[in-house]
Amino acid sequence: MSNPTDPPDYIPLAMLNALAYCPRRFGYEFIQAEMLLNEHVVEGTLRHQGVDLGGPAWVGEAVQQRRIYVWSEALHIAGFCDLVEERAGVAYPVEYKKGRPGRWKNDHAQLCAQALCLEERTGQSIARGYIFSFATRRREEVVFTPELRAEVAQLAAEAHRLAATSALPPPTDKPGKCRDCSLQPLCLPDELKRLATFGQGWEADI
Ligand code: SF4
Repeated sequence: MSNPTDPPDYIPLAMLNALAYCPRRFGYEFIQAEMLLNEHVVEGTLRHQGVDLGGPAWVGEAVQQRRIYVWSEALHIAGFCDLVEERAGVAYPVEYKKGRPGRWKNDHAQLCAQALCLEERTGQSIARGYIFSFATRRREEVVFTPELRAEVAQLAAEAHRLAATSALPPPTDKPGKCRDCSLQPLCLPDELKRLATFGQGWEADI
């Protein structure tokens, strides 16, 4: 029987998104299971609930199946695809996001992780997938390049490493990310960086 404190066997796909955005965000959401609700988070959750409704359906020449569970035994990651669309015999993932396409590309990593899982499950190669933005009502095509695939493999390995340490990583030093992060009131990155200038490490808040 596994111990509740054992490192997880599988990392949720959404947590790879968090890690791609900021390791500390991954630490809060996955290691500490902390989340802050604001209007953006609630709206995103409600919109996803709408996407998740319904079974397989023909849309034009494509077959759509919603909320499909996928996993990769190679990377030990698992989770849900919002939508798997099949066209001309090729299945590919479509991820729904509330806002406009982000500049940080963490959503691309999550989508590619879904594709790697699907490839393992179906034995088919998947060249591209799509991110649908509710804000623009458009799909953005994401090509699963060798670089993006390698990034996902690295993220999966790093997620398992961080989960095994159970330690909260330091704040990101990428300008602009904290401003867009819903966890800022919990994380207090500016305050921690100021404390660090007085000789107190970021570990002070753990
Ligand atoms: S506020 Fe900044 S450092 Fe903290 S979790 Fe968000 S992005 Fe990371």
